Amino acid sequence: MDVLIAGGHGQVARRLIRLLASDGHTARGLIRNADHAADLEADGGVPVVCDLEREDPTPHARGADAIVFAAGAGPGSGPERKRTVDYGGAVKDGLIARVDSAGRSTYFGDNWPNRARHWIPSIDHPSDKATVTWRVTAPSAQTVVANGKLVSSRPARGDASRTETVWRETRRIPVYLMVVAVAPLAVYELGETACGLAEMQRCVSQFVYTAPEQKSFAPGSFARAGEIVQLFSRLVGPFPYEKLAHLQSSTRFGGMENASAIFYSDGSFRRGTMNDGLIAHETAHQWFGDAVTEREWSHLWLSEGFATYFAALWTRAARGDSAFRVQMDGIRRTVLNDSSAVTKRPVIDSIETNYLALLNANSYQKGGFVLHMLRSQVGERAFFDAVRAYYAAHKHSTAVTDDLRAEMERASKQNLGWFFDQWLRKPGFPEVTATWSYDASSREAVVAVSLGSRFGAYRFPLTIAIVDESGAMRRATMQFAAAPGDVQQIRIPSASAPTTVLLDPDADLLAAFTVVKR
Ligand SMILES: [Zn+2]
Repeated sequence: MDVLIAGGHGQVARRLIRLLASDGHTARGLIRNADHAADLEADGGVPVVCDLEREDPTPHARGADAIVFAAGAGPGSGPERKRTVDYGGAVKDGLIARVDSAGRSTYFGDNWPNRARHWIPSIDHPSDKATVTWRVTAPSAQTVVANGKLVSSRPARGDASRTETVWRETRRIPVYLMVVAVAPLAVYELGETACGLAEMQRCVSQFVYTAPEQKSFAPGSFARAGEIVQLFSRLVGPFPYEKLAHLQSSTRFGGMENASAIFYSDGSFRRGTMNDGLIAHETAHQWFGDAVTEREWSHLWLSEGFATYFAALWTRAARGDSAFRVQMDGIRRTVLNDSSAVTKRPVIDSIETNYLALLNANSYQKGGFVLHMLRSQVGERAFFDAVRAYYAAHKHSTAVTDDLRAEMERASKQNLGWFFDQWLRKPGFPEVTATWSYDASSREAVVAVSLGSRFGAYRFPLTIAIVDESGAMRRATMQFAAAPGDVQQIRIPSASAPTTVLLDPDADLLAAFTVVKR
């Protein structure tokens, strides 16, 4: 795609697009499907359709749901015709033009979920992935960073004050991840990282780009970016892209996982709140969301739930198991305290049409915790075998939840339909009440467990820990499978009456717990 940065204040981008119908992924759909097509015309741009080779305008009509043009004779008499569609006009959304506090013009792509259509004619939907080449002509003082690999940077033809920069992403990515950054940026090279663990080259070159006055910020928390990529490459599969850049940007999100060029909010740099947890989350997306993309928005948890859980796995690797448990407990608390999504909607929510509303505790925290429980359900080894198989089967393509279930079932030799249904296809979580007493004659704690009626039946393992007067802790696990109102009882040997009865001491189960002494 061609982007011309005009400079000045907020006026951006003319003659944006060269689409090759023969590419097969993008242009034909754009021209036929108004539902996902560019809104550039609505934004004041008038498309001009040309023969690719001749650059002559081709007669066309813009219908309600299509740009229709005569097939005609012409170059390339194969089944597909190549056409260029030029759009012009100021971009209103998707490419964010902003004058920063120092009076400099900056431009950052920020497309999620479907704002790419304002500047990239495309099927603006995660199911449609394509490679992308960016050819950006911009004032030479600007630094240009985009997806993929830097191909060339040279003076623009006929304009000594401008530079033409080309970046190419050779892996198919969804449109919402296709971005450029054009701004005065200082670069800090993190160097070659994760050597031997990259899909396309030996090592993963990583960079941090900041506003010039923020230069001293780097490397900061990014000092561990190499270890993060190394961990995820080992757990999941080789890093999928040409490089990994981390940019201070004007994204409206805390971080946006654009393929091979992560954009972070400006504020996290200026306020100094950047941390390795956010870096780990966005980096995990390079595998989950970017390389394996949710085919439908309703399966967004395959992106956000994975990024949430893998950030916690980074914590486990970097700071140990107890820090990991604390993080999972915090994730669980967010789910249990949520009143807008978790109690009303399933994680796989095909009703919600406001995609921004899907950025909720269901997609992130509940999805992440479900992966945690799945790991317990199938075991550590089967879990990661299945994650690797799922990734390998769907990388540079798309997936839905059943694709993950199939790999988990294969690796564990378990039927997991019930698990995915109860955790992902209905709202809520189990509300568990344990009522206990001490039977002095048999020296046992007697614990009766029941399930609240709000969210229906559940099946799960429940670990109960009791501490006796001497401070000794004893644990027992019961397999709970019940409808609301059912009571299951367990007897746990204890030398004295327990001083404490704890449910789920390791934060393994997504449930609300109440303990009552009878
Ligand atoms: Zn995310």
